[in-house]
Amino acid sequence: MKRAIYPGSFDPVTLGHIDVIRRASKLFDFLIIGILGNSAKTPLFSVEERVNMLKEATADLTNVEVRSFHGLTVEFARECEANALVRGLRAITDFDYELQIAQLNRVIAPEIDTVFLTTNLKYAYLSSSSVKEVAAYGGDISHFVTPAVEKKVHKKFEEIRSRRI
Ligand code: ADP
Repeated sequence: MKRAIYPGSFDPVTLGHIDVIRRASKLFDFLIIGILGNSAKTPLFSVEERVNMLKEATADLTNVEVRSFHGLTVEFARECEANALVRGLRAITDFDYELQIAQLNRVIAPEIDTVFLTTNLKYAYLSSSSVKEVAAYGGDISHFVTPAVEKKVHKKFEEIRSRRI
C-alpha cells in the first residue's frame, strides 16, 4: 500500500490545492491531508473549520482522508504510516523554500520521501493568502475556490467587519 500525506495550512483550501489532491490520490493508494494546527501565521479559519471544508471538497475521493496535526510533519507522516509527503510547487520561490524543508526532513526522517507535484498552470498564481486578500475587500473569489468555500470565506469576513463596527 502506497500511503502519502499532503500537509499544509489550507486557510482556506483553494482549487489549486484540490487539483494537487486529485492528482496525488491517483498516484498513491491512500492520501491523508494533514491540516497543520501550529502554523506561525494566525489563521482565518479554525483547524476544525478547515478540516470540514476539506472533507466537503474531497467527499467524492474514496482513498482520501482529512486529519489535523500539531508538531513535526514527519512525525505526522510516521503516525499515518506514510512514506511519502506531497507538496505542490507553483514557482521558483516555492522551490527555494520547499527544497530546504525537504532536505531537512530527509535528515530527520530518511525513510520519508518528499514528492513535488507541479501546479496545474490554471492555478499557478493561486494562493490562500491572495484569496483572503481579494475577499477582505469584498471581491469575487469564485474562480479560486469551491462555491461552499466561497460562502464560508465571505461569511467570515462579514463577521470580522461587523465586529469592527
Ligand atoms: P503551507 O502554509 O504549508 O505552505 P498551504 O496551505 O499554503 O500550506 O499549501 C499547501 C501546499 O500546497 C504547499 O506545498 C503549496 O506549495 C501547495 N499549493 C498551494 N497553492 C497551490 C497551487 N495553486 N498549485 C499547486 N500547489 C499549491
